[in-house]
Amino acid sequence: MSKIIRINMTTQEIKVEEVNDEYKMLGGRALTSKIVFDEVPAACEPLGKYNKLVFAPGLLSGTSAPSSGRLSVGGKSPLTGGIKESNAGGISAQKFANLGIKALVVEGQAEKGKYFLLKLSEEGQKILPADDLVGKGTYEITEILRERFGRKVGVITIGPAGDMLMANAGIATNDAEGNSSRYAGRGGLGAVMGSKGLKAIVIDSARTFDAPVHDKERFKAAAKKFADILLKHPVCGEGLPAFGTNILMNIINEAGALPTRNFSRGRFEKANEVSGEKLAEVAKARGGKATHACHPGCVMRCSNVYPMPDGKVCSPIEYESAWAFGPHLEVGDLDAVAKMNYICNDIGLDTIEAGAALGVLMEAEIIPWGDAKAAIKVLEEIGQGTPLGRIVGQGASFTGKAFGVTKVASVKGQHMPAYDPRTCKGNGVTYATTPMGADHTAGYAVTANILKVGGFVDPLKKEGQVELSRNLQVATAAVDSTGLCLFVAFAILDNPEGLPTIVEMLNAQYGLELTVEDVVTLGQKILKVEREFNKQAGFTNVHDRLPEFFNEDLPPHNVNFGITNEELDEVFNF
Ligand code: SF4
Repeated sequence: MSKIIRINMTTQEIKVEEVNDEYKMLGGRALTSKIVFDEVPAACEPLGKYNKLVFAPGLLSGTSAPSSGRLSVGGKSPLTGGIKESNAGGISAQKFANLGIKALVVEGQAEKGKYFLLKLSEEGQKILPADDLVGKGTYEITEILRERFGRKVGVITIGPAGDMLMANAGIATNDAEGNSSRYAGRGGLGAVMGSKGLKAIVIDSARTFDAPVHDKERFKAAAKKFADILLKHPVCGEGLPAFGTNILMNIINEAGALPTRNFSRGRFEKANEVSGEKLAEVAKARGGKATHACHPGCVMRCSNVYPMPDGKVCSPIEYESAWAFGPHLEVGDLDAVAKMNYICNDIGLDTIEAGAALGVLMEAEIIPWGDAKAAIKVLEEIGQGTPLGRIVGQGASFTGKAFGVTKVASVKGQHMPAYDPRTCKGNGVTYATTPMGADHTAGYAVTANILKVGGFVDPLKKEGQVELSRNLQVATAAVDSTGLCLFVAFAILDNPEGLPTIVEMLNAQYGLELTVEDVVTLGQKILKVEREFNKQAGFTNVHDRLPEFFNEDLPPHNVNFGITNEELDEVFNF
């Protein structure tokens, strides 16, 4: 990958830049976070002209490395006010990499009310008017653009939530079948894209696994070995391909860590009704799929294709989305969960934050607990931009302030997902301390806490949780830079050959002799850069805390979070 594309939305100027030496061995999150740190004033208005939106495929994206098609998107978050990296599957990262694009930097702002799309292809880059796409949902936009530019193009787009600059707006990408529901969902980066007047990016490249590789034979051998490592692991090779991420619903419920009725208890009596097992059964019976790859070359195929009663298809329903619209709201109806997921995908909203904001409305008694119809109506109002919809579209913290609800499980303005930090304490440490705001993917301690992957750290005791979260946050930052799907982490944690094989793929691709220690150092450097950005944006240790209601006990285990502020401050001691 050899170039950085820079588009100035104020002047419509496009520049193609050589990659400087410092950026050469950065990709994905490492590159988006470094560019944001280097170029975005930390104190700037996230929806103003000084913020930038950066897209970067991972270092291995565009090669035949298994499950390596993640696309990182970075910028200053309108939801948290801090640095944000959010990554998505779909086909776009591979297309970026095959066009030789290491990063796309979007800066400036188009004239108010004007919208554009950017087309990237072998022939070069073009900015085209896109006013006709404004107000439309992501499914329709993606279909229009595939019709206009070819069925195989990658489409990155925002929906009405991004047009309306909602702090919970995400950025959608499509899979190989054209379904636009892969999301860089968290942190409101869709609003940043909307604020720039960039409605969509079309990436036209017929190539899939054609990124330059220094030593093809060495790379092929390492990629094959890595695929074997993934397929032999019980989670990567059996659990995820059979039931997707929602296999977690019954497991987390059993562990007493399934946040139910806005984190009031850790078990939901109807968990099985919205579980992965149920989803697979219904999806298959209706002609859908229990397993599906979000991009070519994924061997774990964790996605699903769920046909809904109205004839539309929701794909995928992830565990965290099923939680947000299910147990969190006391909804035990899978079709209702699918409908809410579908609406969010179409409007362009992060499902976790959307479900969390609905939970706040239920806490405020604006709509009743368990009332899926009322929740669906509110989500539709977000797309319509009604006053209530505009409040809820700003996320759970904002909705809490609007309706006087203080029991909101957010950190740095971002709501936590489907694992209660009192009974999965390692995740609690991650929620509190990651620079991203409460985010399970930043240091997924469910591994050792509940799944017993990579060892076992008792989820109900505080011993070992800080170290666990630290190690996972460092490793995750590095994995997020390779373009590999984070789910490879299950196999890496259990198989001592896992990480060295990733390093071997990198060395074969780039002609280097990196070591495992170099990769750990990279993860630490990324976190330091992100923490420094946040510090300059005004964050202190006080922001690395959980909301105080986590000091109260959670049934059925009746434990509180219990990790002290001093212990939390030890996470970044490197
Ligand atoms: S494991 Fe799932 S999310 Fe990850 S790349 Fe494969 S299909 Fe996409």
